[in-house]
Amino acid sequence: MLGEGIIKGMAETARNFVGSYHDPLRLTTVEYPEAKIAAKENARNFPFLVFDGDDAMKGLRCVACQICEKECPPQCIFIVKDTVKKPDYIGKMQVQPKIFNIDISVCMSCQICVEVCPFEAIKMDTSFELSNYDRFGGLLLDKHQLARPNGYYHKIHAIEAEEVDARLAAEKAKAEAKAKADAEAKTKAAAAAAAKPPALAAPVK
Ligand code: SF4
Ligand code: SF4
Repeated sequence: MLGEGIIKGMAETARNFVGSYHDPLRLTTVEYPEAKIAAKENARNFPFLVFDGDDAMKGLRCVACQICEKECPPQCIFIVKDTVKKPDYIGKMQVQPKIFNIDISVCMSCQICVEVCPFEAIKMDTSFELSNYDRFGGLLLDKHQLARPNGYYHKIHAIEAEEVDARLAAEKAKAEAKAKADAEAKTKAAAAAAAKPPALAAPVK
């Protein structure tokens, strides 16, 4: 029948309109910005830098390897590696970025920087209220503006952050076990060398 689709669509709209007064599931909109719908686990907007501990700059996981800078398709990441190692949040000497900027006016939210980072240091944010009157400087974010605690990562991507934490803990345990085994092997070798009798001098002819 001609117009059948339109009638069906209007009926559905009317059903949702009337139903939304008594069934909250039919109310699919909220009064933004007073009310907001929480972003979905897989939502993504622009990248941020994860840090551990309480000090954002000491705790940055980023070691300025610059892989993300090279792989970013529109080249909107700019990194300058620090020339000296500095103590991180647990006192381990680490190279970190002196400058780490992302121009989010150019970023296309492709997530390639996240995929290529070997240190779980950069992740995608879900925040979208980033409008700014300054077209250039206001959208060029530095490492201070990009840094977010691991707790924030857990808040916006709970499942993924749990997996990352488990992976990092397993890698840390493996590295510690290897370091312990290496140290034990070194001690054994030193003890064996000390216990060995000195070689006899060759007889003089
Ligand atoms: S999300 Fe894509 S475009 Fe944006 S900084 Fe990362 S690699 Fe570059
Ligand atoms: S965010 Fe990751 S890939 Fe990019 S420089 Fe830092 S450690 Fe390297």
